Order: sequence, then C-alpha cells, then structure tokens
Amino acid sequence: MSDPGPSPLGPSPLGPSPLAAGERNLSVDEARAAIAAAIRPLARSESHEVPIDRAVGRVLAADVVSPIDVPAHDNSAMDGYAFAGSALVADAPTVLRAAGIVYAGRPHAGTVPAGQCLRIMTGAVMPEGTDTVVPLELVQVQGAAETGEVHVPPGVIRAGENRRRRGEDLAAGKPALVAGRVLRPADLGLAASLGLTHVRVMRPLRVALFSTGDEVVEPGQALPEGCIYDSNRFSLGAALARLGMEVVDLGLVPDDRAALAAVIERAVREADVVITSGGVSAGDADYTRDILAAAGDVAFWKVAMRPGRPFAFGPLKRPTAAAGGAPSWLFALPGNPVAALVTFYAFVREALLVLAGATAAPLPVLRARSTAAIRKRPGRTEFQRAIVEPAPDGNGWQVRLFGSQGAGVLRSMSEANALVVLGHEQGSVAAGDAVPVWLFDGLV
Ligand code: AMP
Ligand code: MG
Repeated sequence: MSDPGPSPLGPSPLGPSPLAAGERNLSVDEARAAIAAAIRPLARSESHEVPIDRAVGRVLAADVVSPIDVPAHDNSAMDGYAFAGSALVADAPTVLRAAGIVYAGRPHAGTVPAGQCLRIMTGAVMPEGTDTVVPLELVQVQGAAETGEVHVPPGVIRAGENRRRRGEDLAAGKPALVAGRVLRPADLGLAASLGLTHVRVMRPLRVALFSTGDEVVEPGQALPEGCIYDSNRFSLGAALARLGMEVVDLGLVPDDRAALAAVIERAVREADVVITSGGVSAGDADYTRDILAAAGDVAFWKVAMRPGRPFAFGPLKRPTAAAGGAPSWLFALPGNPVAALVTFYAFVREALLVLAGATAAPLPVLRARSTAAIRKRPGRTEFQRAIVEPAPDGNGWQVRLFGSQGAGVLRSMSEANALVVLGHEQGSVAAGDAVPVWLFDGLV
C-alpha cells in the first residue's frame, strides 16, 4: 500500500514528465513527487538577521555554530558537597571536613585539599581539587553545613558522579542548529544559551492568493441571489499565515478573461507562489485553462483522490529578473472549500516549506483504530474528515468519521480534528482496523 502520509516530497522516477502539457491522471503520490521534483528552494542568500525573540517559526538560513562550550565550566549537577572522589572509602563512611560554600556564578578561589569538601549549589563551578558531588540528602552532617563534619555512607556515590562536564551539551565550533530548521521555542532558548542575540533566517515566501468565481462574494457585502461568500481565501490565508508565509491578498476575481489575465500578471510580479481556488474543473470556462497555460508551464492534473480532483501546478513566467530568474509557482486548487483545504495539505503545504528553504520533515502520521467499517475502493486516495479521540479502553487512539463528507461541507472540516487518509491501493476498512491519520494540529 502506498501510504500518502510519510511519503517524502522527494524526486521519483515518473516516466514522462507530469508537467507535460495537457491533462494527466496521477495518483496522489505521483503528484506530490512531481511537485517535489520541479521546485527549487529560495537561495540561502535571501536571508537576514532577526532578534531571537522574533524568530519563532522562521526558517534558519545558516547553521548556528556555538561560539562557546556549553556548559562553559565543569559544574555541579546537584545541591550537595563537592570533594575528590579518590577519598571515597569502599566499606565504611567517608568523613570529610566542610571548608566553605560555593554558589552558582561565584567560583571558589583556591584548591580543596584532600579530606575536605565544599558545600556546593547546583550549577556552581566545580572547585579545583574536586571531581564528585554527593547530593545533600545522602549525607549526615555533624555541625554547621559549611564547617561541619560530612559523613558519606559507603556505596551511595561513585567517584566523578554529578559533575557536568564543560562542553557536554555543546562544544565550541560545533553546529548547534542546522540551516533549514523551522525554529521552535527550544531552538531559540538554545541560541540564547550560546550568548547569541540574533539568528539568520530566510526571508518569508511571498504567496499571492485569490479566489475565482462570479458567484463568490466578499464577506461583509450583501449576498445576491444564488451567490456564496468567499471562504477559501480565508481558510487558505490562515493556513499560509500559520506556515510563516507572507500573504499577498489579491481578492476576488470574476470569471472574466481580462480580469484573470490581469490578476495573474500582478501576482507573478509580486509573489514567489500563486495560489488560486476555483475555475479549474473540467466544466469551467475554457479560458481559465487557456490563460493559466499561456502564463507558464502549467499542467492540469486529474488526481486520483477524493475530495480534490482538479488541480493545476506549474511555473509561471515572471516579467523581470527581480526574483533572480526564479519562476512563480502556481497551485490552482479546486473551488470546493473542503477540496481546497485538502489539496492544500496534500500538495501545497510541504512544497511551500521546501520553497521557503525549510528541510521538510515528513508529516507525523498517527495510526488510530476506526470505530466503524469504511467503504473504499482501491485506485484513489481518500481524505475523510474525522474525530480522533482516546480509545475508551485507554489503549491508544480511535478515530470516528464525520457524518457529512461532502466536498463542500466546510463544517465537516471545522468540526473534525483530523483527516483519515486511505491510500491509493487501500480497499475497504473493517471496524477496529488501524488507519493512518493526519492530525490538524500537526498540519499547521
Ligand atoms: P469551481 O472549482 O470553480 O467549479 O467551484 C466548485 C464549487 O466551489 C462551486 O460550488 C463554487 O461555488 C465553490 N467555490 C468556488 N470558490 C469558492 C470560494 N472561494 N469560497 C467558497 N466556495 C467556493
Ligand atoms: Mg468557479
């Protein structure tokens, strides 16, 4: 079975180019592979420095090389007493004389003589002459904590324990973060722990977005008879924003040859990527395809999937060398609101990350037991809206398909928290079978 989830957007031998003119039937995996084979990421030079407190979600453009050893000194992993491990007696208490206290950030001057110890705080630099820390709770102290007699029972500690070594987390000169990473909170903490204030990130990808259709109306306006409000530009726009893309909102475009040509012309001037919805179904006016086809090397695919069959992809010509000769990539999605989002997740999301310079990590795919049988015929990939929840027996996850699976029922997408993805070769599923699931929380 070809599992659409983890399949990487990596090049694959596809025979004749799927970008060849005309309409082609492709599987979801073939379509993903064709997109991956065509696109090239932004040059790493298209980057700038940003303060680390504004870098979350950005794509790292250059390795972050540690300028220092972390930790910078051997230090104590525990609150306790530091001493030379060679003093430990095997089968009787080790008795040490406390000779002071050492705090984090205030290194001890001088060497600790054999037979002595220092009260030490977590994170304090290991004083010279010591290599071992016995935790406070393991010793008995007679007298004051800093001057008394410390009894270490036999067998509670071995020489060298509870000492964090200099450079143990990260050695100076080693890459702490690798270019291509989408920066997460811990990464920024790590950069700060190296003393850095800025990181070099890729410029965000500019994505032009518009909706098509004479019947599609801007929210906030009166709704004429037979019309619908534009939802795609808002669901897709939000998904793009979450992915860290810069959205160029080109609004609504009527089903009109000149209007479409004009918006494409503007889009390629302004953006690295052009995302449209509607107007690519077989029944749509021919000029949509004419204009898109004339604007570049656009291929129209009938992808064997449900929902989301009509889909167009390809490079659009750009008028100037402003973008360094790079094309603007068109993703023309179906108009149906569910199909638009499903095709976005299936084909566009990962491609945008790659274009933006990110190292695309495969989508995490959860396997959950289906609460009911699912009818499915082999030969297409199906994306079904579903609710994933903890199984009542406490054993893993179960998944329940959402009742209404119509491609236009956006509510099914909103109320669902996941997509069940039944691969191309997959047949019907019996109740209790494990099925692959894409969690919406992982998608954006
Ligand atoms: P199309 O792909 O243009 O044939 O559109 C397919 C269906 O999706 C039609 O019912 C359209 O009215 C609907 N649709 C197209 N664009 C949008 C949009 N931006 N928002 C909501 N529904 C849309
Ligand atoms: Mg339309």
